Amino acid sequence: MYLTFDDGPHPQITPWVMNQLDKYGAKGTFFVVGDNAERYPELIEEITERGHSIGNHTQHHVKGWGMTDAAYIEEIKLCDKRIPENRLFRPPFGRINIKSIKQLADYEIIMWDVLSRDYLKRLDTHAAQRRIRNRTVDGSIAVFHDSEKAEKNLKMLLPNYLSFLNEQGYKMEKL
Ligand SMILES: [Zn+2]
Repeated sequence: MYLTFDDGPHPQITPWVMNQLDKYGAKGTFFVVGDNAERYPELIEEITERGHSIGNHTQHHVKGWGMTDAAYIEEIKLCDKRIPENRLFRPPFGRINIKSIKQLADYEIIMWDVLSRDYLKRLDTHAAQRRIRNRTVDGSIAVFHDSEKAEKNLKMLLPNYLSFLNEQGYKMEKL
């Protein structure tokens, strides 16, 4: 299965995530915001050096609606300049508004089937724990956020989920 982390990199939270992954020999995929990548280029290097993948999550985490296709593509291209060459793209908010998907033909668009909802201010983490466990199957793509907004929930959910995945015999691979 595949663990993905959106909206970083963040100088404390992203290294914390990688340390958790290391405990289980897990690899992850980080969909970074170009703005953050620009601020913390050393983290982009560290993510790669530690064997994880990096994907594109636009330069400014744009919604896409109310914006031209050209401006949206420009957002993706800007983020590309901050990260190692790759084909992985995840649209912020999980929605693509672009008229011609052909314009994104060079990218592999990665959504998910296991949503942690770690970004919610009031999350019942016990219920969330059960939900993400139950939803996980072979090939699942789970999404978490290495962001301040999600930090508290992430720190509750991820160690427990990793231990569950490990017990169940899943291999946690990068995309
Ligand atoms: Zn996002």
